[in-house]
Amino acid sequence: MRRQVWVNIDLEALSANVRKIKSIVGSSVKILAVLKQSAYGHGIIPVARKLYEEGVDVFGVGSIGEAIQLREDGYQGQIILLSIVSKGLASFFIRFGITPTVVDLSFARELDRQAKKIKRVIPVHIKVDTGMGRLGFYPDQIYPFLEKIKKFSSLSLEGLYTHFPVADTNSNFTNRQLNIFQKLIKDLKRQNISFNYYHSANSLGVINYPNSYLNMVRPGLILYGIKPSADSGLELKPVLSFKARIIFIKEISPGKTVGYGSEFVAKKHTRIATVSVGYADGYPWALSNCAKVLIKGKVFNIAGRVCMDHIMIDLGQDKGIKKGDIVTLIGKGQDRDIKAEDLAAWAQTIPYEIVTRISREIPRHYSAKSTN
Ligand SMILES: *Cc1c(COP(=O)(O)O)cnc(C)c1O
Repeated sequence: MRRQVWVNIDLEALSANVRKIKSIVGSSVKILAVLKQSAYGHGIIPVARKLYEEGVDVFGVGSIGEAIQLREDGYQGQIILLSIVSKGLASFFIRFGITPTVVDLSFARELDRQAKKIKRVIPVHIKVDTGMGRLGFYPDQIYPFLEKIKKFSSLSLEGLYTHFPVADTNSNFTNRQLNIFQKLIKDLKRQNISFNYYHSANSLGVINYPNSYLNMVRPGLILYGIKPSADSGLELKPVLSFKARIIFIKEISPGKTVGYGSEFVAKKHTRIATVSVGYADGYPWALSNCAKVLIKGKVFNIAGRVCMDHIMIDLGQDKGIKKGDIVTLIGKGQDRDIKAEDLAAWAQTIPYEIVTRISREIPRHYSAKSTN
């Protein structure tokens, strides 16, 4: 028996967003669509199929499991793992044709050894740290590393990439990273080390830094129609909406309280709706007392704290709303929409966390069937 909570995914909106990104970066720049964490909670297979229909044939994933899911679905294009795994898992890259990110010599050696045995050459992408402080060597350490990688004859240097930590807030820092990366590309070319692809742009790169496109971009969040920062002017179509039903309504009198902590106190007679969604479903507890929802297109406030399986809504005197009515937690209303960005602002988090934390157990309904 399913609880009355679900997610709708608008695949036409996904198409519109990827076309928009293509029009921005131009046809000479390849799109590596980032599908990690089950396509940011949208569901990796339907999203991948739709993007493939739109001509995207390079996917970035966060785990080997996600790459295998894509292969089992029949996808034959390129899959790049944007993270790293222990060398004990090297055989998976060969068996499933996954392109690894390489930042470590012992992994590269193991991959080379296994590829040699079956006479295959495995393309790899090397990550360089220009300021993220995460995976990869700094540019001044990378040359000796690449010299060693070059000697592995069953690996081919296909990509070189870097990542931006502050593309929303610090353009000096980001431009400095870009300069470092471009200088490195030139220096390496001079040393006869070149790659087919150079990439640096995440969503914010695509929006704000045209000279970060190089010949490949790695958008994630904007594919899904969500803006990584408030001030970007880009027009996108939200792909995901999040819905639940009213399962109970009661009238309460002034002075009555609602929910844990009794933080909502009725000032006058009001109707309180109980809705079948809670923090265990991925509707953050931090939305307690502050979130808004849409019912029949109108805006209402949450009453009190978010519970594990429930939230309560203050309907005021609105008699038009009944048990069984649909509550839009993220999605379109009459006069206004509620976006993942709004929930993030109310909960003092980032929209990435809002969409990736919607429970995977909640059913996703897809509005436009892709080929299958
Ligand atoms: C997640 C990720 C991206 C996509 O970032 P967005 O901000 O969602 O566009 C790009 N590159 C790497 C390496 C990532 O891990």
